[in-house]
Amino acid sequence: MVLHIPFDNTFAKLGPGFFTPQQPEPVAAPRMIAFNQILADLLQVTSGDLQEMAVTFAGNQLPEGAEPLAQVYAGHQFGNYNPQLGDGRAILLGEVLGREGRRYDIQLKGAGRTPYSRQGDGRAWLGPVLREYLVSEAMHALGIPTTRALAAVATGDTVWREGGLPGAVLTRVSASHLRVGTFQYFAARGEIAALKTLTTYAIARHYPQAEGPLGLLRAVRDAQAGLIAAWMSVGFIHGVMNTDNCSISGETIDYGPCAFMDQYRAEQVFSSIDRTGRYAYANQPNIAVWNLAQLATALIQQLEDPQSAVEEATAIIHAMPSLIEAEWLRLFRRKIGLVTVARDDLDLISDLLEVMAEGQADFTNTFRAMTEGSAKDQFLNPEAYEAWRQRWMQRRKAEQDPDAVMRLSNPIYIPRNHRIEEMISAAVAGDFALFERLNTTLSTPFQKQANCEDLRRPPSQSEVVTATFCGT
Ligand code: AMP
Ligand code: MG
Repeated sequence: MVLHIPFDNTFAKLGPGFFTPQQPEPVAAPRMIAFNQILADLLQVTSGDLQEMAVTFAGNQLPEGAEPLAQVYAGHQFGNYNPQLGDGRAILLGEVLGREGRRYDIQLKGAGRTPYSRQGDGRAWLGPVLREYLVSEAMHALGIPTTRALAAVATGDTVWREGGLPGAVLTRVSASHLRVGTFQYFAARGEIAALKTLTTYAIARHYPQAEGPLGLLRAVRDAQAGLIAAWMSVGFIHGVMNTDNCSISGETIDYGPCAFMDQYRAEQVFSSIDRTGRYAYANQPNIAVWNLAQLATALIQQLEDPQSAVEEATAIIHAMPSLIEAEWLRLFRRKIGLVTVARDDLDLISDLLEVMAEGQADFTNTFRAMTEGSAKDQFLNPEAYEAWRQRWMQRRKAEQDPDAVMRLSNPIYIPRNHRIEEMISAAVAGDFALFERLNTTLSTPFQKQANCEDLRRPPSQSEVVTATFCGT
């Protein structure tokens, strides 16, 4: 068989203002590390022999029908507007239609310099590539909208960071790579015709039922509200929710300094560059609203009379916190086995989280242990949990089969930071066994698997990861 990717490109037809055509820069010695056959099947990509695929997904050989390009965008980074970012180390090969009829971007990340590289080298090293591969696929398996990973290829080149590191390229797949920052770029430059083209394109591609710029705003709001609530429900901290990392499709994008928390702490931050806690766990809903406001500011520039749209746009934004909270409540109800609705549920859940914070309980293991009757062991303050449990037992009486609901809502396995770090160290030394093992286990996170108890274990004192890095 020969590798075949049935490209059907639309973004490349938008015209020159939206991107720069850009060939990937060849690498020394491509070697396939991981190929996602299930995703390839979905994308109707027929795979060839491994070396041919390595050469292609390293960017050394262009598959037929590819129209490689680097997209331009802008964005607020930690609240400061940067008028031009863009794909500095990513190259879009093109789009394909999945078996289910959805359209996907196929992009190489780490494929060399582009006009948007600024000071960067356009490259990625093995650590962040394998981290993104595992964590994005784990998110997908958890049922959370996300970009995905089709392939990871080692380049045989050295990438220079603090020292020399093995280079790699990730093939990223997404519903599209349109971001809030893509709209900001054109709006800030007063390129209204381009802004209109982009809006029409985004609506047709993602929300065909949406009407006009404000319809798009509403659709993105709803998608992002669902996404943020889903992150919260699994203890995920994105770490760098800049507007250029906020996707129009509502997928999780950019697995830089992201992390799943072990112990529950509302104010948890991992990213080494997030000094003020702007992107802390519990601040993510606020930031999502802030990002939506930036999208609104950009979108309304194209309206005949932007001032008259401000009121409606404001109403759309103001409705977002309660949408996030409603979805948050639905998901956390399920985490404690509730599908019916009672007035005090919010208090019940908030009180549990408070007891967990005080008791330094592991977020993932506590919820799962509640179906196994062993949750008490997770707490340094077991009496406080026991008191809460009595209330919960009363409330559960209204439910049909709460344990079954909980088993479907509380994963056993998440990509824990200390395991990811351990996996990266081993991979850099040439050992991919832990990568393979995590990849397999995390693909069915709600099902108990043999010989995987160690992957449930929270970090010991010495294993705790206190900071994560963008790792570019
Ligand atoms: P990120 O922090 O991954 O969202 O990236 C922010 C911006 O920096 C984007 O425009 C990236 O394309 C760019 N960038 C990050 N790493 C590199 C790199 N190694 N080379 C060139 N550009 C980069
Ligand atoms: Mg980014």
